[in-house]
Amino acid sequence: MHTTLSGFTDRVALVTGAAAGIGRATAIAFAHAGVRAVVLADLNEDGLRESACTVKSLGAQVLTVVTDVANPDDVDFMVSRTIQMFGQLDFAFNNAGIEASTARTADISEPDWEHTLAVNLTGAWLCMRAEIPHILAAGPGVGAIVNCASVAGLVGFEGSAAYVASKHGVVGLTKAAALDYAAEGIRINAVCPGVIRTPMVDRVIADNPEMEAALIAMEPIGRLGTPEEVAQTVVWLCSANSTFVTGQAIAVDGGLVTR
Ligand code: NAD
Repeated sequence: MHTTLSGFTDRVALVTGAAAGIGRATAIAFAHAGVRAVVLADLNEDGLRESACTVKSLGAQVLTVVTDVANPDDVDFMVSRTIQMFGQLDFAFNNAGIEASTARTADISEPDWEHTLAVNLTGAWLCMRAEIPHILAAGPGVGAIVNCASVAGLVGFEGSAAYVASKHGVVGLTKAAALDYAAEGIRINAVCPGVIRTPMVDRVIADNPEMEAALIAMEPIGRLGTPEEVAQTVVWLCSANSTFVTGQAIAVDGGLVTR
C-alpha cells in the first residue's frame, strides 16, 4: 500500500542507478509518496526511459540524466541539470553500483579492483559532494541522503574482497558524512540490502542456476527480498518519520547478518 507522505509534496528526489532494480523501485516509491519531481540517473538510457514512464504515470515530474557516477563531470552535470530544471534538491538515493567478478583476494585484477571502488565508493562520494550544497540550501531538517551499501558493508563474503571493501567504504563514508552535517540538519544514512531479486541477482543466477537455492538458503526469512522492500526503507529514511535517525547502516536483509 502506498500513501502520500506529509512533507513530500514540494520535494525533489534524485536516484542513481534508477534504470533497474532497487533504484527503479525507489524512484517509483518516491512518486507514490507524493514528491513533486524525481530525477533518474543511470548509464542505461533505455532502462531510464522505462522507469521515467512509470514515475510520470504516478503524477511526479521527471528528469532523466544519462550519468556514469564514477565520472565527476557527469555527476556535476546530473546535479546542475536538477537545479536548473527544478530549482531545488531535497532527497538523494546514491544507489548505482556494480557486482565485482568473483575472485580470491590475491587473484583480483587491478582494473576490476579499481572499477569496483570507482563506481561503488568513489561514485557515492562524488554524488554527495555535488548534492550536499543544494540539500543544505533546503534548510535544516528538510533534506536527507541515503547511500546504498549492502550486507557486504557489514560482514565479509568469500571471493568478494573488492565488493566487500567498496561497501564497507560506503558505510564508513555515510557515518563520517552524517557527523559532518548533523548540526546543519541533513540526515545521512545507508541501507544494507540482503539478497534482493533484481537484474543484478538474476545475472548471478543465470551464470549458475544452482545459486538460486543457495541464495535463498542464506536468508533466514526463507526467500529473496524485493526491490520494493528496500525502496520503502529509503523513503522512510527521507521522511518525517525518521527525524532522529542519522549515520546508520540499516540492514534490509531478511535477517541475513543476524544469523
Ligand atoms: P542492478 O544491476 O539491477 O541495477 C543497478 C543499476 O545501476 C543499473 O541500472 C545500472 O545500469 C546502474 N549502474 C551501474 N553502474 C553505473 C554507473 N557507473 N553509473 C550509473 N549507473 C550505473 O542492481 P541492484 O541489485 O538494483 O543494485 C542496486 C544497488 O544495490 C547496488 O549498489 C548494489 O550493490 C546494491 N545491492 C544489491 C543487492 C542485491 O541483492 N540485488 C544486495 C546488496 C546491495
